[in-house]
Amino acid sequence: MSALIREQIVAACKKLESSGLNRGTSGNVSCRENHHFLITPTGVPVEEITPSKIVSVGFDGKVIGIGKPSSEWHFHCDILKARPEINAVVHTHSPHATALACLRENIPPFHYMISVAGGDSVRCAPYALFGTEQLSQHAVAALADRKACLLANHGMITLGRDLDEAMAIAVEIEALCQQYLLARQVGRPTLLSADEMAQVIERFKTYGRNAAASHRT
Ligand SMILES: [Zn+2]
Repeated sequence: MSALIREQIVAACKKLESSGLNRGTSGNVSCRENHHFLITPTGVPVEEITPSKIVSVGFDGKVIGIGKPSSEWHFHCDILKARPEINAVVHTHSPHATALACLRENIPPFHYMISVAGGDSVRCAPYALFGTEQLSQHAVAALADRKACLLANHGMITLGRDLDEAMAIAVEIEALCQQYLLARQVGRPTLLSADEMAQVIERFKTYGRNAAASHRT
């Protein structure tokens, strides 16, 4: 099991890089495995990441075996502890999500696909220094009832029941941020009402697993 998850994490890192969501050593990926989690190593360029370099960390924050985990291991650990239904966490500094995060605004329901995150907004967590427990607390709070949040002046986090879902939501959130930025350049987008968003969320429920993340009309 561990070998497969390690390979999936490496593949996800490569996809984040090739799709432009990550550059260099920014961004990181983790997956739950029984009573610990696997996470990308710190400071390793994506072309050098191999399954054996993925680091195993206990929920007490102690490394199991060898390696040094991503400097953001704290929020990966706390999110996986706080959200038993979540098994994968993706963090990126993707350009459009990060640009919006620098405005420190929640993303409102300007497009129905905002419901991909599980509600009628994507919250922006307050700023805190990277790698800190405070940033982790802000992230867990901003992610309540959601599978995505922005981190002020930093980037975004997405969650999934599995890595495929967390990755699909990351791609969708980056696209939504791009669309929202474009709309804001020429005007003030008309927002969907609470009723309209409730209808979208209800419709997605009937589509089944991963429906929102894979849905495009
Ligand atoms: Zn970061």
